[in-house]
Amino acid sequence: MSISENIKKIKQEIPSEVKLVAISKTKPEEDILEAYNAGHRIFGENKIQEMTDKWEKLPEDIEWHMVGHVQRNKVKYMAPFVKLIHAVDSLKLLKEIDKQAAKNDRSIDCLLQIKIAEEDTKFGITVAEAKDILNSEKFRELTHVKVVGLMGMATLTDNEQQIRQEFSFLKSTFDELSKEHPNLSTLSMGMSGDYRIAIECGSNMIRVGSSIFGERNYN
Ligand SMILES: *Cc1c(COP(=O)(O)O)cnc(C)c1O
Repeated sequence: MSISENIKKIKQEIPSEVKLVAISKTKPEEDILEAYNAGHRIFGENKIQEMTDKWEKLPEDIEWHMVGHVQRNKVKYMAPFVKLIHAVDSLKLLKEIDKQAAKNDRSIDCLLQIKIAEEDTKFGITVAEAKDILNSEKFRELTHVKVVGLMGMATLTDNEQQIRQEFSFLKSTFDELSKEHPNLSTLSMGMSGDYRIAIECGSNMIRVGSSIFGERNYN
């Protein structure tokens, strides 16, 4: 199926309150334009340089999400335009985002990435660390950055029960934290292989790449 058919099929399948972020990393601008011409506007990348290059060339009304790990010294390149940063994992990074957002006279929305997978390779912080950040005086002083939710990646496994457990854990963490912090409204979980499970577990934002654009070639 074509990119536009894939997009339409996924949008028909998911509930209307679930936002679809089309993950276009490694894919050429023509592919993004095909999805754009099918009416899609939200795209995600995992490298700041690649996202910035695409932002410069593609239509202005695209909403760009950074879903990859963020190095502090690169925040400045995306600060003029990024809509949502999914994988924030420290107060230091929030401070830098705040600083760069202020320079651009805007406010930037972020999600805290919680580590829910078993593998040690995945980034993210513990629930205790997330609470410490949200409750800290230093965080409350930041005026140009907003934490609007949580993000997590489940273990890459065929064991559906394990994936379900990890997503359910993140959903209950989200419910708990959002009681005290009403700004938290976005729960970003679910990729091509597991977004159906993620939605059943309460996700309201899915990040889908290969099911839309096809397999990635990293060479
Ligand atoms: C690449 C990527 C995705 C999309 O992965 P697919 O399996 O291709 O859907 C989602 N989230 C993050 C953080 C990614 O890096």
